[in-house]
Amino acid sequence: MVVTASAPAEPVAARADRVSIIGGGASGVLTALQLLSTSDDSALCVTVHESTGVLGRGIAYGTSDPRHLLNVRARHMSAYADIPSDLLDWARRAGRDPDPYGFLPRMEFAAYLQDTLADVADHRLTISGGRVDDIVRVGDGFELRTRDRVAAADTVVLAYGNQTPQSLAVGGVDLAELPGYLPNPWDLGAIRALPGDAVVVIVGTGLTAIDTAITLLEESPQRTAVMVSRHGLLPHDHIEQQSTAWVSDVPSGPLTADGIAAFVRGQVDAARAHGVDWRNVVDGLRSATQSIWARLDLDERQRFLATYARDWEVRRHRMAPEVADRIRRYRRDGRLAVLDGGITSIDTRGPRAALRLSDLPDPVVADAVVNCTGPLTDLARSADPLLQALQSRGLVTPDPLRLGLASTVAGEVLGVDGHVVPGLYAVGPPRKGTLWESTAIPEIRTQAAEVSRLVLARVAAG
Ligand SMILES: Cc1cc2nc3c(=O)[nH]c(=O)nc-3n(C[C@H](O)[C@H](O)[C@H](O)COP(=O)(O)OP(=O)(O)OC[C@H]3O[C@@H](n4cnc5c(N)ncnc54)[C@H](O)[C@@H]3O)c2cc1C
Repeated sequence: MVVTASAPAEPVAARADRVSIIGGGASGVLTALQLLSTSDDSALCVTVHESTGVLGRGIAYGTSDPRHLLNVRARHMSAYADIPSDLLDWARRAGRDPDPYGFLPRMEFAAYLQDTLADVADHRLTISGGRVDDIVRVGDGFELRTRDRVAAADTVVLAYGNQTPQSLAVGGVDLAELPGYLPNPWDLGAIRALPGDAVVVIVGTGLTAIDTAITLLEESPQRTAVMVSRHGLLPHDHIEQQSTAWVSDVPSGPLTADGIAAFVRGQVDAARAHGVDWRNVVDGLRSATQSIWARLDLDERQRFLATYARDWEVRRHRMAPEVADRIRRYRRDGRLAVLDGGITSIDTRGPRAALRLSDLPDPVVADAVVNCTGPLTDLARSADPLLQALQSRGLVTPDPLRLGLASTVAGEVLGVDGHVVPGLYAVGPPRKGTLWESTAIPEIRTQAAEVSRLVLARVAAG
């Protein structure tokens, strides 16, 4: 079942328990799911505002390319932390025979979220299509403004997700001025529309760059691509799951970024001595990552970001084996090159831009340049109308590391004055600055459950 927008929501009559969720991607759907499944309050009124009008997709699961796979094994992608088999059971009910250790197409996960929400949806759920552009504090509650409507809410959960990447400039040339510049790497229509023999520069080497290469190169055998990033590091691949869990006891006492890096290296060496792969060490640290982050002070978090973050990310967020095989094949066939460094200059005099890339002797004359540098996280640089409005009203403020918004560990949003804004919560990627590990489903489903408990307690308190 596809959950789409119903008729535009009328301004809701005044009542004490209206909850609005801004964003209907995975974070918004998981929050709605928790609210509806854990509360038997028939007066609860949950509205999910989703700009596309279709729930469950968001950026990650809205892909239309079935070759884009989940990067987390199916058995870890349940919507409910306490029912690990839920996604697998859903897939079985749909007539499939899923491998618990396998990686499902991401678009199937959107269908799973839609069906799972539909299972608990009743008169208490409203889906409102369209963007929320502004939120105003009114008394103890909020007023939500869209292009053509104003709605009231007592409680708001921000689940607006990932932003498109920051714009790129090289030597004073704004890449947006290039004829073939694609600012949104998740717009697969624009990638598919490129010429069948296109030469494409992909800026970035992370998981989104991998998706871009797959859609680009699979759909026309004559296309070629060059991927470039500062480090030139591709995500590592998942390997056959080893049954050995490697659980590390994180040292007590003050922690530093260098100290934690040395600790992880020591654990990897110890694991190797027992024939256990480093991946088990990284995965075993997952449940401790947020508490490790909480123990690092701001300077140490900054040091981690500057020195270790990239290496951690390519080990922590890995490619499914089938995806890694495709990438190896493209490189072996000479259709994909991966470079470290960057674009050093651009010549825009011809019909196609000529880009000089570090280490390549000749310029690449490109039909397109795709910005895969990762989601923009600095709210102060965001052009998103809602984020600008929330900041100008002082309802949200960037976290000190500019990884998202300032919030408590529990998900309450902090205003510009540093105090909790009563009734305003956040779930998902915007909480990365506070938690670090805040973007994947296993973390998001836990946040959704915790924020739901806070929201329902507020509702109960009247
Ligand atoms: C390409 C990609 C692949 C990923 N793959 C995986 C994976 O395999 N496994 C995993 O665990 N994690 C994966 N992730 C991590 C991902 O961040 C989370 O799993 C999750 O999808 C985040 O969901 P979200 O709802 O917070 O954000 P988003 O997916 O960005 O969705 C946010 C939604 O909010 C809507 N919205 C935003 N602003 C407004 C507004 N003002 N008004 C109304 N609606 C609004 C948007 O239209 C969008 O639908 C992936 C991430 C990306 C980018």
